[in-house]
Amino acid sequence: MQEKGLLIVLSGPSGVGKGTVRKEIFSHPDTAFEYSISMTTRLPRAGEKDGVDYFFKSRAEFEELIGQGKLLEYAEFVGNYYGTPVDYVRETLDSGKDVFLEIEVKGARQVREKFPEGLFIFLMPPSLTELKNRIVTRGTETDDIIHNRMLSAREEIEMMELYDYVVENDQVDLACERVRAIVTAEHCRRVRV
Ligand code: 5GP
Repeated sequence: MQEKGLLIVLSGPSGVGKGTVRKEIFSHPDTAFEYSISMTTRLPRAGEKDGVDYFFKSRAEFEELIGQGKLLEYAEFVGNYYGTPVDYVRETLDSGKDVFLEIEVKGARQVREKFPEGLFIFLMPPSLTELKNRIVTRGTETDDIIHNRMLSAREEIEMMELYDYVVENDQVDLACERVRAIVTAEHCRRVRV
């Protein structure tokens, strides 16, 4: 029987650079996983192509897809819908190929519920890493500035608990290397004779 592919989810707070890291990963010649192109209701940006960057949909079309159960997950982000086509993901995984999703955190949580066996990677901005280090190192978090930053970042940190790995995006090429290494390690970990 064909072994199923691995579902890889890259997520993290807005502005962390998920799209940049994803593009860099897919420009690597050895990257062997498939990118799941999302559906969105936002308008194409200059240079973006339908069916390449996104499948661009009207709100009515998107809501029809929701109603038909065609989306593995979806979320509203800054006034637009974004979602992952479920058939593509399932068919690609069934064919034995890994599928890579680059999605925001609300969507990633929905995927975790449906695919608990997926590989969930949280991309972390260096400032949050710094913040978390301070929280972990007890007794150092008395500073007002740290306290305020922690309050605003709390939601994102809580989200982090749902993930298998946290990757710091201090440098795009290093972040890509870490993601690729995690996927390789995950495959080795799951191999059983
Ligand atoms: P952008 O409009 O900048 O391309 O994407 C905005 C946000 O939507 C980014 O955080 C991106 O990761 C996220 N996103 C892209 N596709 C999907 C998707 O299919 N589902 C969800 N939940 N988020 C997505």
